[in-house]
Amino acid sequence: ARPRVVIVGGGAGGATAARYIAKDSQGAIDVTLIEPTRTYYTCFFSNLYIGGFRDLASIGHSYGTLAAQYGINVVHDWAVGVDRDGRTVTTAGGHVFPYDKLIVAPGIDFVEGSVPGWDISAQNRMPHSWKAGSQTQLLKAQVEGMRQGGLFCMVAPPDPFRCPPGPYERISMVAHVLRERNPTAKILIVDPKQSFSKQALFEEGWQKHYPGMIQRIGPDFGGNNVSVNPETMEVDIDGQVEKVDVCNVIPAQKAGRIAELAGLTGETGFCPIVPATMQSRMDEDIHVLGDATIAGDMPKSGFSANSHAKVAAMQVRAALTGSTAFPARYSNTCWSLIDTDDGVKVGASYAPTDEMIAKVDGFVSQTGEPADLRKLTYEESLGWYSGIVADMFG
Ligand code: FAD
Repeated sequence: ARPRVVIVGGGAGGATAARYIAKDSQGAIDVTLIEPTRTYYTCFFSNLYIGGFRDLASIGHSYGTLAAQYGINVVHDWAVGVDRDGRTVTTAGGHVFPYDKLIVAPGIDFVEGSVPGWDISAQNRMPHSWKAGSQTQLLKAQVEGMRQGGLFCMVAPPDPFRCPPGPYERISMVAHVLRERNPTAKILIVDPKQSFSKQALFEEGWQKHYPGMIQRIGPDFGGNNVSVNPETMEVDIDGQVEKVDVCNVIPAQKAGRIAELAGLTGETGFCPIVPATMQSRMDEDIHVLGDATIAGDMPKSGFSANSHAKVAAMQVRAALTGSTAFPARYSNTCWSLIDTDDGVKVGASYAPTDEMIAKVDGFVSQTGEPADLRKLTYEESLGWYSGIVADMFG
C-alpha cells in the first residue's frame, strides 16, 4: 500500500504541503487534506478588501484543483482528535484517518480572557476579523456604516501574533475608507506593545495621508490595560471609558486548538519544532507548520507558512519514498499598503540553527522613499499574491 500522509488544516501552510507532496511524489504517496471550509479566504489582502482595493471573490480559493489535478483526498470536516500511538486522526464527522506522517497546520485560535469583556460570542458586535471571510465582511460593513464623525477603535494584540504589520495595514485601509466617506471620523488604536512592525513607515504614511485622524495609545498610557463592553460599545483604557462606534478587537493568540489537543504545544501555547525539518519537538512523525509554530525569527505570515510547508514536504517525501532532502532555507516578505499606490515591505531569509530558525539577512522599505518606488512595491505585492495562491491551491 502507498504510504499515507494526513494534513490537518488547508490554509497557507497545509494547502502548500498537500500540493507539494502530491505533485513531487507523483502519486507514490496517498495525501489526505482535512479542512472544514470549502472556500478559504486569505487573511492576506483581506485588509485591501476592507479598503476597497479588492473584492471578496478575489481572496477566496477552493480546493477543487488540489483534488482534481493532484489527486489529493480533500475532506471537508474538522479534525477533533489525534491518536499519536495509533497514528490516526479522527474527525467531527466520525471518520478515522490512519497516517504514516501527519502534518498539523491549524493556524491560530484566541487566548480566552485576553481582552476582558470580550469573548467569541461578542464577535458580531466587536469583530476580530483575524480569520478572514464573514468576519472581514462584517468589519467592512461596520466601517462603511459608521455614523459621521464617529470613532473607530482597534484593540491591538500582544506579541506574538499572526501578521505583525497586519493591524497597522488595517488601520491604514480603514483610514482610506473614512477619508472618502466620513472625513471627520477618528481612529483610536490601543496597543499593549511598546513598538510595532514598520512603525516609522506607518507613522510617516499616516501623517502624510490621514493627518489628525489616527491616535495610538501605547502601554505607557494604559494601552496594556484595556477591557471592553460589547453591549454598551465602551472601551475602558486604564480607567478612562471611551464610547466607540466600531471596535475591532484582536485578542492574544495561540496555536489552533487541535495542536493543543494533540499535545504538540508548549508553555507559550505554540508548537516547538525542529528548525531543520519543521518536525514537532514532541513527535517525529508529526510536522507542524505556519502560525501554530514557534519559528524563531520568522514572523507568523502566509509567506512563512508556505516556506515551512516546502521544507516539511521535502522531509516527508524523503522519509517515505527515499527522495533527497536538501538543507532547509526559509524566506518571508510582508508587504503592506498604506494608501493608493503607497506600498511598503519588510523581508528576510532564514536558516536553521540547532535551537531556532535564525535570520540570515533582510531588507525593509525606507521612510521618505519616492512615490514611484512605493508604487513598484505595491505592484510587487500584487504579483506575489497571485504567485503564492497558485503555489498553495494550484
Ligand atoms: P491558516 O492559513 O489560518 O490555515 C489554517 C487552516 O486550518 C484554516 O483553513 C482552518 O480552517 C483549518 N483548521 C483549523 N483547525 C482545524 C481542525 N481542527 N481540523 C481541520 N482544519 C482545521 N501573511 C502574509 O504572508 N502576507 C500578508 O500580507 C498577510 N496579511 C495578513 C493580514 C491580516 C489582516 C491577517 C489577519 C493575516 C495576514 N497574514 C499575511 C498572515 C497569514 O494570513 C497567516 O500567517 C497564514 O494564513 C498562516 O497560515 P497557516 O497555514 O498557519 O494558517
